[in-house]
Amino acid sequence: MGLRTRMENPFNKPVSPPREPAKSDLPANWRPRKPPRDWGPVFVFLAAALALVAWWRFKNSNNFSTATLKVNPSSVIQLGHSAVTTSGASADDSSPAAVKSHEITAQDSGKPGDPTLDDEYRDINQQFYGGKLPTVPVLWEERLAEIGPLIAEGFIEKGLWTSRDNHEFILLNTSLSPDAADTRRVLCHEIVHEYMFSIGEKYEGHGPKFQAELLRLSQAGAFEGIPAAEGEKAGLKAWLDNESVRLEGESAQLNNERFDLEQERGAVDREGEELNQEVRELNQRMSTANAQQSGWPSDQEIAASKARSRAHDQKAAEFNQHLTNFNARIANYDSALGNYNRSVARYNLMIAFPDGLDEANAAHAKQPVVQ
Ligand SMILES: [Zn+2]
Repeated sequence: MGLRTRMENPFNKPVSPPREPAKSDLPANWRPRKPPRDWGPVFVFLAAALALVAWWRFKNSNNFSTATLKVNPSSVIQLGHSAVTTSGASADDSSPAAVKSHEITAQDSGKPGDPTLDDEYRDINQQFYGGKLPTVPVLWEERLAEIGPLIAEGFIEKGLWTSRDNHEFILLNTSLSPDAADTRRVLCHEIVHEYMFSIGEKYEGHGPKFQAELLRLSQAGAFEGIPAAEGEKAGLKAWLDNESVRLEGESAQLNNERFDLEQERGAVDREGEELNQEVRELNQRMSTANAQQSGWPSDQEIAASKARSRAHDQKAAEFNQHLTNFNARIANYDSALGNYNRSVARYNLMIAFPDGLDEANAAHAKQPVVQ
C-alpha cells in the first residue's frame, strides 16, 4: 500500500524547487513501475486454472474415449457384432445356432413373461401400435448367451422372437438387463418382428419392410438410436480414430506450453519484485533528499531505473500475449473436444441402431451356407 500511495505523488516532489534543477525536471508523467501484483495474480490464476482445465479435460477425454465412449477398436468390433437377432430360423435349419435356438425356445414355450418386460411391451404396443399388437410374453433368458458364439466369434445374441404352435414370445438376453436403453432397443427390434408376423409378413426377416418399420419406431422416439449405412459408420469411425490421436497430441502440447508459461511468469514476477524494491529505495532516497535538500539520486540512476521498467513492461506485455495465445489454443481444443464427444455419442447411437444387419454380415462371414 505504501508504494501505491507514493504513486499518487511520485518521488515526493518538493514544495520548494530543489537546488539541483535536474531533479525538478523529472517528467510529470513518470511513475514508479506499476507493481506486478496488480495484474500478476490474475494472469497467474488464469494460467493455472486454464492449464488445470486443459489437463482435466485431457484426463477426462482419455477415460472417456477408452472406457465410456467405446471407440477403441476392440469395443467397436464387439459392438459391431452385437446386433440384435431373432429366431428367423426355419424349421429345417440345422445350423448349430438354429438347433440351439430351437432347444431354448422349446424350453421357454408357455412360460409367463417377466412382469416388467411385459409392462414395457404393453407400453410400446399402446404408444406406437394403438394397442393392436397381440399380447406376447417377454422373458429374460440367460441361455441366449450360448447362441452368439455359434454364429460368430464375439457375436452376442441379444434377443429372439419366436412363434411356436401359434404362440409367439420374445426372449431377451439377461446380460442386457443393466442397460435400460439397450433393453429397449432390442425389445423394439423384436416387436417389429412380431408386427411383421401379425400383418402376415412371415418371411420378411430384416428386409426392407422390417427396416422401414424399425425406422418408423426410431423416428417416433420408441428407442434411442441413429440409422446409418455401413459406409457412414465406417467413415465416422475412421475420423474418430484420427481425431482422437490429434487431440491427444494437442493436449500434450498444451501441457508443455503451460509449463513454459509458468516458467515465463515466474521470471517476470521475480523481476517485478526486484524493480519494486528498487523503486521503493529510490522513493526513500528521494524523500530523504527532499527533507535534507541534498543527496538526490542522479539523472543516470533514474534513467537507468526507467529503462529497466520499460524493459520489464515489454516482457510483461509479451507474457500477456503468450497467455492470450494459450487461451485461444485452449478454446480451440475445448471446441474440438466437444465436437469429438458429440461425434462419439452419435457413432455409438449409430452402431446401437438395432437393424439386425450386422448379424447377417457376421453370419455370412463365419458360416458356410448349409444345404
Ligand atoms: Zn431380428
